[in-house]
Amino acid sequence: MCGIAGYLGFRKAYPIVINGLQRLEYRGYDSAGVVLVDGNEMSLYKTKGKVSDLKKIMKQKNIEGNLALGHTRWATHGVPNDENSHPHLSNSGNLVIVHNGIIENYDTIKKELIIRGYTFKSDTDTEVLINLIEEVKIKNNCKLGYAVQMALTNVVGAYAIAVFDVSKPDEIIVAKLGSPIAIGIGENNT
Ligand code: GLU
Repeated sequence: MCGIAGYLGFRKAYPIVINGLQRLEYRGYDSAGVVLVDGNEMSLYKTKGKVSDLKKIMKQKNIEGNLALGHTRWATHGVPNDENSHPHLSNSGNLVIVHNGIIENYDTIKKELIIRGYTFKSDTDTEVLINLIEEVKIKNNCKLGYAVQMALTNVVGAYAIAVFDVSKPDEIIVAKLGSPIAIGIGENNT
């Protein structure tokens, strides 16, 4: 099992999230990634290897921003490589996901999404889920939280996910079934 660490608040998100990933390293993993939002700018970095490899990449990068999601992956669908590492984006590039666990019926959902024009860069079940969420959101013209809830009614598996909308980076939607997730809420520090 791998790990998710996320932060949204008034502090600089990156150090908090990287520290969170390091604390989850004991769980075992094969790749690591992080997405940051600084104002209108989103940056996504991911790599096969260790959190220390990710930190090396990040040395040259802008690590500002008050929202970050980090992930350590233990591959279940698709080999450990950069492309299969999390976070994953939806086809529009608007939605971002990190995911622990397995979407058992991902293949059926993927085939249906392909028929409806969706394309995939990775071999993961996770990229299927974020595009299903996107499709539900567009079809119903609804809020992200509702789209996540509705999309998950079509999913069989165990998961902990964190999702956000790049155009509305003032909330992180989380959901879980079978896999654990912990949320902390601090005053002035959501
Ligand atoms: N099933 C997902 C994948 O293979 C997530 C695996 C995990 O829990 O790290 O990318």
